[in-house]
Amino acid sequence: MVLLDRSTLMVVFAVLTMTMLVLFYFDTYRKSRAAFAGWWCVAVGSFFSAALFYFVGEVWNQAWAPGIGNGVMVLGSGSVWAGTRSLAGRRVRAWFLLVPTVLAVAVRFAADARSATLVCLALMGTAIGLASLELWREREGSWQTVRSLAIATAVCAAYYLSRTVGLAVLSPEDPLFQLLFGTGVTLLMAMVLLVVVSASITALNTARRTEDLRERASRDALSGLLNRGGFMHQAQLRLRANLDAGVDTAIVMADLDRFKAINDGYGHDAGDGVIRAFSEACRSTLRTADLVGRYGGEEFVLLLTGVDAEEGVRIADRINAALAARSSLPGGAPAPTASFGVVDTRGTNAGLQRLIREADGGLYAAKAAGRNRAMIGAAQASRPAG
Ligand code: GH3
Ligand code: MG
Ligand code: MG
Repeated sequence: MVLLDRSTLMVVFAVLTMTMLVLFYFDTYRKSRAAFAGWWCVAVGSFFSAALFYFVGEVWNQAWAPGIGNGVMVLGSGSVWAGTRSLAGRRVRAWFLLVPTVLAVAVRFAADARSATLVCLALMGTAIGLASLELWREREGSWQTVRSLAIATAVCAAYYLSRTVGLAVLSPEDPLFQLLFGTGVTLLMAMVLLVVVSASITALNTARRTEDLRERASRDALSGLLNRGGFMHQAQLRLRANLDAGVDTAIVMADLDRFKAINDGYGHDAGDGVIRAFSEACRSTLRTADLVGRYGGEEFVLLLTGVDAEEGVRIADRINAALAARSSLPGGAPAPTASFGVVDTRGTNAGLQRLIREADGGLYAAKAAGRNRAMIGAAQASRPAG
């Protein structure tokens, strides 16, 4: 086996962690400000400082330095755990990190070096093991990346915990201990892990940002509803799934009544407020499984699962009732009303575009009949019921 000089390895480790910290901070954390990326910066920064303390202890024979190094290593491991918790939106209290850190330092000053190392390794192994458990629990979209992180942290935790046991039963000078758990092996192992974890976290960050951008691209900024593209995409999928499951789907087109008069009489901002009020009325009336999109201007489209056209009409009436119940609107505009056209999928396998056209027919009929009402599209009547 090649004998690697401890001091040289420590310098290599310090340079590697420093480079990684700078790259990671500017390239990943600054761009995303994601909590887990922040915690990883704290972790890498801690490992870097620990390498410096060990180096000072080794080269300049400073007795206080390794104790501080142990504490900082424990803090870094705790930060890895805190980072994995933040992935799922769970928090970590400060004293959860500070108590083990202080303990690791105190033991070094109160007891011999070997006991201090034992405590430090056990704490590190536990923190990283907990991080791995957090990652295994994570079941989200970018789960492939999370799994590689879970494996990397599990390997790391297993190594630190075995090193703890190794140190407890063997002497640090024992050739077997040196071969498996010597400083050189440990540092090499830590370097590989740092690279793997950094790469995985960067990949995870990219995946999350892409997800976030996709979500924002499918939303309408004024109403917070799906925009036309977002609605069409999700509605196609939902329609197909409902068809396969034999569940009825209702498609509803809505258009605010005399909206131009609100804009002209109370200003464009009041008009925007009315659009928001309509969106809120939809959200408060519909179930989470239903889809609502802003189709354009003051036109909206709804997809209701497990609902037929008659029930769709009742739901539309409830939206108008929710709108009428609003006592005040921004800009002093009166509570608006809307007209609706409704069709369902009974007796047809028409696609989304066609259903929307048919619902639009019902909407025109509702406008012609005096507005503030919902009407079933004429196309529905020509279909066999059931
Ligand atoms: P009807 O009852 O027949 O639907 O009458 P209407 O006045 O609602 O119909 P029309 O289509 O003539 O007017 C729609 C208006 O909606 C015209 C346009 O200026 C306004 N509008 C479209 N998008 C927005 C928006 O984002 N904000 C505001 N404030 N107004 C909008
Ligand atoms: Mg219109
Ligand atoms: Mg209108």
